[in-house]
Order: sequence, then C-alpha cells, then structure tokens
Amino acid sequence: MSNSRVSDVNTQRVDSPAEEKASFARGAAFVDGKIVPVGDAKISILDWGFLRSDATYDVVHVWNGRFFRLQDHLDRFSRGMKRLRMTIPYSDAEIQSILQECVLAAGLTNAYVEVVCTRGIPLPGSRDPRQCTNKFYAFAVPFTWIATEEQRVRGLRMRISNVHRIAPEAVDPTIKNYHWLDLINSLFEAYNFGDETAVLTDGREHVIEGPGFNIFAVIDGIIVTPRSGVLEGITRQTVIDLAEMGGYELQQRALKVDEFRDATEIFISSTAGGVMPVGWIDGKVVGTGGRGPLTEKIQKHYWELHIDPAFSTPVSQ
Ligand code: PLP
Repeated sequence: MSNSRVSDVNTQRVDSPAEEKASFARGAAFVDGKIVPVGDAKISILDWGFLRSDATYDVVHVWNGRFFRLQDHLDRFSRGMKRLRMTIPYSDAEIQSILQECVLAAGLTNAYVEVVCTRGIPLPGSRDPRQCTNKFYAFAVPFTWIATEEQRVRGLRMRISNVHRIAPEAVDPTIKNYHWLDLINSLFEAYNFGDETAVLTDGREHVIEGPGFNIFAVIDGIIVTPRSGVLEGITRQTVIDLAEMGGYELQQRALKVDEFRDATEIFISSTAGGVMPVGWIDGKVVGTGGRGPLTEKIQKHYWELHIDPAFSTPVSQ
C-alpha cells in the first residue's frame, strides 16, 4: 500500500475543511484501510482482540514533530506478532506512512501513537485461532503522561502492590499485551491507600514493573532494573543507553522488595512520559525526598535525545 493510497482514502471525506479539522481534533485512527476521526473508529465485537485479549500492540510517541525510536517500536511489534503467529499485510515502511497519516490528520506535534494487531474474527462456529484473519489498527491521539507536571518534579506516590504480576510462564511479558487486569487492580489498590501508582511483585519478594512502566532503583550509587519478567521497554532501553553514554553503572538483575524500599532514588520509564521520579514508597519518603539528582540528569538527557537524528525521525519528511 502506498502512502498516496492512504492520502486518497483520507480525502474521500465529505466534511468541510473546518468540520474535518474539528472532527480529527481528538485524534485519527486507521481502521479497515481508512483514516477516520478516532471517535468514529469502530471494530467488530466478534474480534478476539476484544473478546479474548488476543492481541499485541505497541506505542511510540511523537515529540515536537518527531517519532522517537520508531524502528525499535516497529521491531518489537513485529517480534510480538511473530511469537503470537500473527501476520499483517503491511511492511514497516507502510506502517510508518499510516502512522504519519494519522499524526498529520490529527494535526499533532506531540502524540501518543498506537499500533495494534488482533487475532481477528474466527470463521462461523470455529474456535480455531488459525482460521482467523488477523487485523491491523492504528491511531494517534494527543500525548498522554503517566505522571502530571507536578508529579514529574516531586515524584509519584507508589504502592508496592499485593497483586502479583502475571507469571511470565503464563503470559510472556516481552510480547506487549492487553492482559492488564493485574495492573489495573494494582492501581485500585494504590488509590485505596491514597497513592498514585503501583509496582507489582513476582510474589517471591522481587519488584517487577507497574501499569505501563518499567522501574529503576539507585542502590549504593548503582542504577538497578529488573532483568526478567518485564516488558523490554524502549524507554528502559533508552535509560540503559543513557547510563552507558553518561558513564553511570547500571545493572539488570533481580530487584528485591527490601532493596527497593531502601533505594536512594527510584524512577519509572515509559513512552507515556519518559523518565519519571518516585517520591514515596508505601507512604515513606524515598531517599532524601523529591526527584533525585541521577533521576533528574537522566530525565533531562532523555528529552534531549528527542532531537537527535540517531534516535528520532521527523513525521513529515
Ligand atoms: N511495562 C509495561 C507492562 C508496559 O505496558 C509498558 C508500556 O506500556 C512499559 C513497561 C514501558 O515500555 P515502553 O518504554 O516501551 O513504553
């Protein structure tokens, strides 16, 4: 599919330019070969992506008109589809042009851009996933943050959840997936305590990850992040790259709950907000409080990378 075909479809709308602009203000989606306002995007109720969470997805962001690490996101998406035995009829270049069209149709300079592949709809009466035609969807909406501006400076209030992360032996966390009930339940538990977010454990005294983010702790001056049982976040990888560039020691290893509680700094990483500090764990101040010095440096360098052509590509080329 060529870039121009997406544009042709887009120009088939009958709205006046002003109406069309308003209808795309909340975002744009690609569904069944068409770019539509995100509020009009519909999928079948019979799609197993909806009925069975049988789907994989990825989220890349656009910052100041540039995709950040787009190819890394597309590579992870493609690995996920392969492991779930899903195929779509679009190449990376075609996906990139669809995403460009979505971002441009929505007129966004800072965007949260999602690609989704679902199992699709089974043949009537069939329960065989091999008989489904996999479906591809995408959308771009205004950028969303896990932490507010205030939280990004003073740090989030985090609860160590009693909810265990789904075991990696059950659902492979390296395939980005919609098995979010553990993550959502952990949020409700945190809110009950007056906290703002949560981190889940493996049920064996190790902290793992939270709703939409990876975790990092500074212990004896070394940055530590869990090695396994987690989504290999692109932001997590960026922190690993930044640590190497900045000459900070970083270890990927199992992270015990007790060490996490005693860390001098804690931060989280996500496409939905980058590097964000944690100020409290279970109501107790982390380190000396507020955003730690290492967290602040990494947070600053993270955003600086967004203009580096080695890490980002312009939406309009
Ligand atoms: N862990 C989980 C469970 C996630 O859902 C996400 C992002 O949605 C992350 C980690 C962070 O990944 P990334 O940095 O690629 O956004």
